[in-house]
This record gives sequence, structure tokens and C-alpha cells, in this order.
Amino acid sequence: MAKILIPTPLRQFADKKDSVQLQGATVGEVLKSLTGQYSELRRHLYNDEGKLRSFVNVYVNDEDIRYLNKEATPLTDGDTVSIVPSIAGGSAGVASPPAPPLTLSKDEILRYSRHLIMPEVGMDGQLKLKSAKVALIGTGGLGAPLGMYLAAAGIGRIGLVDFDVVDFTNLQRQVIHGTKDVGKKKLDSAAETMLDINPYVEIDRHETALTSENALGILKDYDIVVDGTDNFPTRYLVNDACVLLGKPNVYGSIFRFEGQATIFAYPGGPCYRCLYPEPPPPGLVPSCAEGGVLGILPGTIGLIQATETVKLVLGIGEPLIGRLVLYDALAMRFRELKLRRNPECPVCGDHPTITKLIDYQEFCGIPNQQHQEAPMAGGIDGDIDPVEVKAKIDRGDRFVLLDVREPHEYQICNIPQAKLIPLGDLPKRVNELDSADEIVAHCKSGMRSAKAVDFLKQAGFKKVRNMKGGILAWSDKVDPSVPKY
Ligand code: ZN
Repeated sequence: MAKILIPTPLRQFADKKDSVQLQGATVGEVLKSLTGQYSELRRHLYNDEGKLRSFVNVYVNDEDIRYLNKEATPLTDGDTVSIVPSIAGGSAGVASPPAPPLTLSKDEILRYSRHLIMPEVGMDGQLKLKSAKVALIGTGGLGAPLGMYLAAAGIGRIGLVDFDVVDFTNLQRQVIHGTKDVGKKKLDSAAETMLDINPYVEIDRHETALTSENALGILKDYDIVVDGTDNFPTRYLVNDACVLLGKPNVYGSIFRFEGQATIFAYPGGPCYRCLYPEPPPPGLVPSCAEGGVLGILPGTIGLIQATETVKLVLGIGEPLIGRLVLYDALAMRFRELKLRRNPECPVCGDHPTITKLIDYQEFCGIPNQQHQEAPMAGGIDGDIDPVEVKAKIDRGDRFVLLDVREPHEYQICNIPQAKLIPLGDLPKRVNELDSADEIVAHCKSGMRSAKAVDFLKQAGFKKVRNMKGGILAWSDKVDPSVPKY
């Protein structure tokens, strides 16, 4: 026996009852028996082909089963089935008056005509897109094509999460931003472009980093989450939040010439932790800022994510669930791996140990900022500011400035006094350095040189320091003629 909760707008067709108890093994059977008892309800719940209307969401025990084969969802004794007709822009109001049916204006019909004439989309599908709510985490490389195409496709409400500012180095791939936007908030620049493409979409601007404290609150209002982030702590945070909220996480990642895409956290499907239970140690996998990325690559991967998002909303095709697409741009080859949900997974498994969001910086082994930036007493240890390095050069202090970047980076820009030994060559070329000398290591932004400092200390060097912020900070603070890349 299951309890069916009837929403206010539909009670007039069910003898004014707010709930009824009915027998049935699946959601479909219970709904059939409900409409058998109250025949007037039938036309409100089902379309002419006998399919559940797209604006009717069904929840079982407060779980949205919209993305499952909703009518086949099995029921057990004591389950509660809620019928929630979707209302644009708000939660299904139990006490609110019936929402006007969602429609397309004449202008929207013209705009979406190439969708409307395809039977797989049609008016019904376009209205599904219009009532869909999608959260887009990040408006960078992946977020750029995602934001533009999701807006163009007519996703009714798009929530953008970003706190960054547009930089010249972004323009090689983040095509949602233009040269005129450099220095502007990415959130504003992205929203402007999207609204220019399609003024009929609603954009929520969440100007913040996604954190364990705010993630559930932000993401709970959306149907689908699209992950366009670029770091491991946020990847795990987005994954866990999606599993906890029961929302699909449309995933994409990029590096140099290669990309990956899949859908995680779809109920019953695998999650990011099923694939990667543990993050790589910090620094092992370089970020795009360190390792580089072909500017077109995030376009390809972001558009796979956009395609999957639209398919999920429309409920058409074969969604990329349990399959990981690998793309190699140099070979121009796609591969596909099967993914399975791990029953032992700590977050989506049968006996989850992670039932709330955790500290993801700590989980990924990243020391917190305060700890990292605290200078060690005595001065010779820890980080050194580029301005101080410049002062040392000007004073003629005896020390070695060690550049641990790659030769092709050295060609882009360098500090003339620096000696170049790429990080990977350091173990075999360490004999070129004298442990009696004071050494200041630098790279592009300070990550690799921190590793070089660790390595040299382990090799017995005592007087080694890391130039904070790398050559980028040198360009900012000491010599603006040094190009940034
Ligand atoms: Zn999992």
C-alpha cells in the first residue's frame, strides 16, 4: 500500500482529497489505479498518447524520479508518492493557485523553429527545455561553450557559479568572454553573452567559490549539475553534493590534447568516486595553467556535456551514463570505457560512509592557505617575494636563481640571472648545484618550484626558498615588460 499525495491544483479532481492510499507494485500501477478512481485526473496527468505529462514530476519518498524510468520505479509498502506539477520559477506550491500552463511566445516559436520541427524535440520537448533548471559550475574553458549553447537551446533557467575575473590568458579558449571583458567578473561577462544570444533564459549569478558550506544550498534548486571546474577538490565536492542531492552530474575534463566526458551520480549509475576513489597527490597531475591546453579542446568536451544535458532534459537517446568517453584530439579518435557503480563506493555505494560534505582541500592533500603562506621564523626558509628577489639581485647578493620550468617556457620569458634546470631533470642534474649556496627556485606560478624546493631539501640542501607566485608575480610586481602566459 502506497500513499499518494495530491497537490492543491489537482484536488478538485479527486474529491478534494489531499492524499489517497492505493495498491500497486510500481509508480505506474499506482497512478493508473488513481486515475481509474478519479477519471478527471487522467487528462491532467497523462497526454493523449497515455504518457505522463512532461510538467508532472513524481517523487517517491521525496526523491525526484524524473530521470529514472519513472513509471517503472518499484514501490514498497509504506512508500509515499508525491505528484508535483512543475511550475516555472518556483517550488511546487502546496497552497499556491494553479500555475498557468507553460507556453512559448510567438517570438520563441520562431527562435526555436529548428527544434520544433524535429519530432524528437517538438513543442513538448522545447517546453521541457524551458522548464529545465541547470547549474553550471565554472564559466571558464568548459563553461564557455556550455553556457552559450545551453542558453541558445532554450534551457529556461541557468545558474552560473564563478568568482573569477576575465584574464587575457583565458581568451585563447573561453569564447564566452571577449577582449573587452578582460578585468570584468566572469559571471557578468558570461551572463551578458548568454542573454545576448537568448534573452528568454533566466540566469542566476552565484558569485562565489563552491564550498562544502554552500554547495547543497546552491545546487538543490537545479535539476542537473554540469561540472566545468578545473581542480580536484571542487570535482569531489560537486560529485558528493550531486550524489547526496540525487542530481545527475554532467562531467567533462581536459588536459593538453585529451578530454573525458560522462554523466556521474545519475541514480543507479556510477559516481566520480566509483571511478576515482582517491585524488592524485597534489601536484602530480598538472592543471591547465601549468600543463597547457589546446584552446579548441574545451569546446569539443564542453559541447559533449551540453549535448548530454539537453538529452537528459528531453529524455531522448542513450545518455552517457556508465560510459566514459575519451577523446584524443591529436589522433582525432574517440574511445569509450564502461563504468560501473561500485557497491563499496564511500558516497554512492550500498553502505555509504560519506553522508555529508567534507573538507575537500584536506581530502585532496592541499595544505590550507594560512599554513602555506606562513613564513618560517629565521627568514631563509619558506617563500620569498619577487620584490625581495629583485632587491637581492640589485644588491649583488650571492645566490642562485633556479628556473625549473621547461625550455619552451623559458623561451617565452625569463629572468636573465636565472639558471634553467627543468623540474624533471633536477634529480640527474642536482650535481650542478652547490648545497652551500643559497638557492631561490622559481617556475611559472610557484607550484613546481615548491616541489623543487622539497626535492632539494630532501637531497640535503638547507638554504632553498621558493619565489612566491613565480614569474607571473615577477611580471606583476617587478618587471611588467616580462610577458605573462
Ligand atoms: Zn560512487
